[in-house]
Amino acid sequence: MGRRKLGLEVNRPGRTLGDPDISIPVAQDLLKVKGVPIRDPEVSYYSREFPLESFSLTESASAVWAEKEREKVSPEISKLYSDYQKKILPWVDKLADISKRSPSVSPDGTDISNAVRAKARELGYGEVGFVRFDKRYIYSSRRSHVRQDLPSAICLAVEQDYVKTQEIPGITAEKAQGDAYLKQAELSVKLAEYLLQSGYSAQISGPVWHFGPLIPMFVQAGLGQLGVNGQLLSPHFGSRARLQILITDAPLSYDSPVDYGIYKLCETCQICFMRCPGKAIQAQRVWFRGVEKNKLISRRCRPVMTRFSGCGICIKVCPVQKYGMAPVMEHYLETGEILGKGSDDLEGFELQGKGYYPSGKLPSFDREFFDMPEGTQQDLALEELNTQLSTSGDLSAMQKEEIWTRFRQRVEAGASKERRIVDMGMDIDV
Ligand code: SF4
Ligand code: SF4
Repeated sequence: MGRRKLGLEVNRPGRTLGDPDISIPVAQDLLKVKGVPIRDPEVSYYSREFPLESFSLTESASAVWAEKEREKVSPEISKLYSDYQKKILPWVDKLADISKRSPSVSPDGTDISNAVRAKARELGYGEVGFVRFDKRYIYSSRRSHVRQDLPSAICLAVEQDYVKTQEIPGITAEKAQGDAYLKQAELSVKLAEYLLQSGYSAQISGPVWHFGPLIPMFVQAGLGQLGVNGQLLSPHFGSRARLQILITDAPLSYDSPVDYGIYKLCETCQICFMRCPGKAIQAQRVWFRGVEKNKLISRRCRPVMTRFSGCGICIKVCPVQKYGMAPVMEHYLETGEILGKGSDDLEGFELQGKGYYPSGKLPSFDREFFDMPEGTQQDLALEELNTQLSTSGDLSAMQKEEIWTRFRQRVEAGASKERRIVDMGMDIDV
């Protein structure tokens, strides 16, 4: 295809502290939008009239199903997840306590953006950005717990280990994910301590108990753009970035969204769409809650994730994740092509028990493979209660009492467990 015309050079800090800055050359024909296409009044409307809720609550029935199914098909992954949950539990109170503490000194009111950025990088965060805390992205069940007096969000990304991530799907990559969550817990408490000692309050979202979806604020902070795979493609780590925010009243200068060329690059690439074993990724974008995006079909994703070590093939096969944004954009500028596309090195993957799938080959599954309960556990219990009552004919008082007791137990068990049952999202309630 030949060399493209350069449209823009984006300069970003190096991957780790001390690394030289990098320059990302974006071809003219990839320029489209800073951040993501968004209709702001629509985002506000949906947030007001149809507030967001955590997937772990709205789809708790499938989460319970996944937990049992995983136990059956890959007990070693089940054990790994429960081990990581045990390791993260001691952090739950430490993370939550930060928001209850008062600053240890009086603030002097000067902008501390540079100092906070430097501290976060020194601690080990790979990407740091500042934005207004967008309260439209708080799950409805968490609104009353999130402090309303902290107007700014510090967006923080930790890099998940590169080498282990390339082993997706499998236990090695899941360990890398769990380790990244533990690192986030440790670093966020240290950064919050720094803010408290500087005279400012803080509250931490993630790696346990996220306030809500984080990608919109990371995009707004210029730390990447949304990929077809539904993940943030960040300059150094692509979709290997593990995200977290910390809200604060510290005076900070806000960053702004950047056009890295990802919107158009994804249209040409489409590798994640083609390689998803569950066909859960859509090729076409749709407008959803005021944002134009490729909507993931979760009922096609979760059965694959559950049975194949958390899957994550959409992370592994993304060239921005594998090679970094600068090499991918340089290659496109020189050739008009997507780096690694069509190669087994990028696109090949192994599914345990099914075999190796090189570029161009995909596994097939029976329709029953995707059978999975939808909605909440309470919805499921009610549905079963209705079926029992309508198909059981005349019931004695004792039989009715038994049915009611079983129903009540299921609802109570659902309510107590649903916030702890996650794949590897660490969305543990506080
Ligand atoms: S995790 Fe696997 S099944 Fe789910 S969207 Fe990604 S590639 Fe598809
Ligand atoms: S694999 Fe390609 S299409 Fe998918 S998110 Fe990455 S760059 Fe975009």
